[in-house]
Amino acid sequence: ADELAFKLVVVGNGAVGKSSLIQRFCRGVFSQNYKQTIGVDFLERVLEIGNGRCVRLMVWDTAGQEEFDALTRAYYRGAHGAILAFSSTDLQSFEAVDSWRSKVEAECGSLPMVLVQNKMDLADQALVSPEMAENAARRHRLRLYRTSAKQDFNVDEAFRYLAEKCMEA
Ligand code: GDP
Ligand code: MG
Repeated sequence: ADELAFKLVVVGNGAVGKSSLIQRFCRGVFSQNYKQTIGVDFLERVLEIGNGRCVRLMVWDTAGQEEFDALTRAYYRGAHGAILAFSSTDLQSFEAVDSWRSKVEAECGSLPMVLVQNKMDLADQALVSPEMAENAARRHRLRLYRTSAKQDFNVDEAFRYLAEKCMEA
């Protein structure tokens, strides 16, 4: 059977949980250690998409360069889809979503994207209200997923949705 393969990038401010989302999705684990380095450019996971077909997702992580606004061309090159991630507990990360979208589109043109509000388990520390997140999703015309990489909530769903959008594109 022929196999589809997509490169996905995960962008957003430092510490929103990009590496954690990728680790959760590709390896099924969560580690509390901040600044964890995966040590490779991307992690892979093969998803079954029905009718015996599979899609190979190569999910690219950063080594923290996003904190210096220094993601390279190579990071974005050939991407098929993008996750725009922010953290429930970090207002700046929410406000930075517009600029992350612009950067992705400047490098890749228009491509399937999904908005991800991570750290939903930290409800008592939330600074981004449901209304704020929903308004942003509406304004960007993107599907919003509320996730917790820590509690394994909605992470698979967000990646699977993006994979499906990539297949339609
Ligand atoms: P990145 O800089 O965007 O790659 O963020 P990391 O994945 O390194 O995560 C930054 C910090 O937030 C780490 O201490 C993680 O353990 C923590 N973190 C990531 N996702 C979650 C989550 O869903 N819930 C909670 N409570 N902490 C998280
Ligand atoms: Mg990271």
